[in-house]
Amino acid sequence: MKPKAIDEFFCRLAEARPEPRTELSYRNPYTLLVAVVLSAQATDVGVNKATGPLFAVIDTPEKMVALGEEKLREHIRTIGLYRTKAANVMALSRILIATHGGKVPREREALEALPGVGRKTANVVLNVAFGEPTIAVDTHIFRVANRTGLAPAKTPLGVEMALEQNIPARWKPNAHHWLILHGRYVCTARAPRCGTCLVKDLCAYPEKNPTPPASRKAPEAASPTTKPRAPRRRQRAAGSPLDG
Ligand code: SF4
Repeated sequence: MKPKAIDEFFCRLAEARPEPRTELSYRNPYTLLVAVVLSAQATDVGVNKATGPLFAVIDTPEKMVALGEEKLREHIRTIGLYRTKAANVMALSRILIATHGGKVPREREALEALPGVGRKTANVVLNVAFGEPTIAVDTHIFRVANRTGLAPAKTPLGVEMALEQNIPARWKPNAHHWLILHGRYVCTARAPRCGTCLVKDLCAYPEKNPTPPASRKAPEAASPTTKPRAPRRRQRAAGSPLDG
């Protein structure tokens, strides 16, 4: 996809969702980190169901260590791989207390040194908790980047590097959310809603699906993060608030 088309691509996604947010529930950087660790191979909805009651009383590594691994397992037993994840959460909580004063570090290297935290999780925490313009490539972003021609590559790291290179700076802080939500609700794996896709004319996917499934909600309105808003001007000019 050419630079002008990429800018237009994000301009349209930004108009549809001016303030995109993660769909994981969290209260602070620590609970965000825990939620992202728990979300591996699980849905955000499933994670939120388990973490709602948990985070209401446990929102620091100190409280998590005091809770103990056995009780944590009871809280998250509806989430896949919960035994391994509980062990990782307890271990990373102890490290945060021992090494980082009970705080979530802002450095990638320190984040990736924590149990259960890989590059993708670190990217989510850096972006959502600290506002860094990182892009965590999950299955949705990998699919959208390759289908559209936005950042074609064979591996998640390759897609991340290509997105990093191709996305204009002003769109980077929110690019992660826009791409995930577009992949989750519009450019779905089995039946992409190409017929009503906002970026259809920019997309290079040769197998566009012309008719959206009748049972689904309207595209770009399906996300619970989408809120009614007043009309606003397109953010094309230099000096946009999204400039990074
Ligand atoms: S046109 Fe279809 S394949 Fe392309 S981004 Fe939209 S939904 Fe995905």
